[in-house]
Amino acid sequence: MSDCLFCKIAAGEIPSNKVYEDESVLAFRDINPQAPVHILVIPKAHAADSAAQITAENSAVVARCFEVIAKVAAQEGLKDGFRVITNSGAAAGQTVPHLHFHILAGADMSDKLV
Ligand code: AMP
Ligand code: ZN
Repeated sequence: MSDCLFCKIAAGEIPSNKVYEDESVLAFRDINPQAPVHILVIPKAHAADSAAQITAENSAVVARCFEVIAKVAAQEGLKDGFRVITNSGAAAGQTVPHLHFHILAGADMSDKLV
C-alpha cells in the first residue's frame, strides 16, 4: 500500500533499526520503546491491516512472523521470557494499520494486563 508507514519501512523508503530481515519478514526496533527490548515484526507485504483480517488465504504470514519472533528472541538472548502483542483496531491501541507483532522484554510484566 503506497501510503502505509510499515510498507515504506519494509521497502527501505523510511529507515529503521533492523534486527532481522529475510525475503518476507522484517524485524526492527520500535521508535518509542515500551520496554528495554521492544521489537516490531512485520510481514513485508501488506497482507492484512490487523489480526481482524486474517483468513485461511493469508494466515501463512502469521506463521512466518512467529518463526521470526522465535529467531529474534534467541538472537536477542531473551532467555528469561518475552511477551508478544498484536493490537487490532483503534480501541485496542493500534496506530499503524499494517499487521505487526510487538516483542517486549526486559521488564517485569507479571502484574500487567495479561
Ligand atoms: P501499534 O500502536 O500497535 O499500531 O504499534 C505501532 C508501533 O509502531 C508503535 O509502538 C510505534 O512506536 C511504532 N512506530 C511508529 N513509527 C515508527 C518508526 N518509524 N519506526 C519504528 N517504530 C515506529
Ligand atoms: Zn503496509
